[in-house]
Amino acid sequence: MTDANGQTPMIDGFGRRITYLRVSVTDRCDFRCVYCMPEQMQFLQKRELLTLEELDRLTSAFIAKGVRKVRLTGGEPLVRRNILWLIQSMARHLDAGRLDELTLTTNGSQLERFATDLAACGVKRINVSLDTLDPVKFKDITRGGDFAQVMRGIEAADQAGLKVKINAVALRDINEDEFEDLIRYSHRSGFDLTLIEAMPLGDTGSDRSDQYLPLSLVRARLGEHFTLEEVPYRSGGPARYARVRETGGRLGFITPLTHNFCESCNRVRVTCTGTLYMCLGQEDAADLRAPLRASEADDLLNATIDAAIAQKPRGHDFVIERGQKPTLSRHMSMTGG
Ligand code: SAM
Repeated sequence: MTDANGQTPMIDGFGRRITYLRVSVTDRCDFRCVYCMPEQMQFLQKRELLTLEELDRLTSAFIAKGVRKVRLTGGEPLVRRNILWLIQSMARHLDAGRLDELTLTTNGSQLERFATDLAACGVKRINVSLDTLDPVKFKDITRGGDFAQVMRGIEAADQAGLKVKINAVALRDINEDEFEDLIRYSHRSGFDLTLIEAMPLGDTGSDRSDQYLPLSLVRARLGEHFTLEEVPYRSGGPARYARVRETGGRLGFITPLTHNFCESCNRVRVTCTGTLYMCLGQEDAADLRAPLRASEADDLLNATIDAAIAQKPRGHDFVIERGQKPTLSRHMSMTGG
């Protein structure tokens, strides 16, 4: 069945409507977070990447098929050369009312430079990943990141009027003593905070079972210091939110391991090479680069997308056990977190 634009809306085999696209614009990152990638990460060659024009065309095809929210991610999206061109170009869909939200997930390192331009393009909210408030620990976790630079970036985003959400991966023995501080810092600054369970994606050179910390445990511990009140608020992603009575701020939990949320999944992901992943936690994928390049019209591309959406898996089944290889060999930086 086609809609008013002659497009087939994206509804998968389980009746889930796909309205959210995450686009990994580069696999490169200026950080090497210990839970994300190995220290000597092998990045793609530049010639393997889609051009920004191709990413624009691909994303626009998804918007024509009913995507209402686009998140640029990576790797670090703001280290892709000329990324502002893509964001400025995508803003036309916001202006035309075809898209509700254009947003980014970033490590914050380049925000000082980009915040004003992002706001001018119509970006309203951004997610900034920040796992610790300790500059020395920050350098260790990111393998070289500059904490002060990130804080200046967050400040610049706030000043530019962007609504900031802080994302922190819960890491056993690494930042598990900091969640209270992260809550107080975020809520004092007027930011939501979301805690995320570490997922078994890609080899990092260390055993994930050493890092994995179930959020069910974190939540129980936080309950000893804070009053967490369930709230129905949803940000369009998998986070479930609570209001922290003592701070008045919102605290989200993303629990791919302890509580599966796939039944309401509304999203798919495209990598910087044009591979469509229908689920972050499964291998199912479709190459969109070949149909994209095969013709200037989008017919073949749209047919490939339709066939892929029909194959979207029911959900992921992550497991983290001692000594076990990661569930999937690809890193989060490839598929886009
Ligand atoms: N560079 C950007 C950033 O740092 O936000 C965007 C890409 S990064 C891969 C997106 C998010 O994925 C970050 O919040 C990061 O902490 C998270 N992440 C990376 N690897 C992860 C893993 N194995 N499990 C859970 N979260 C992970």
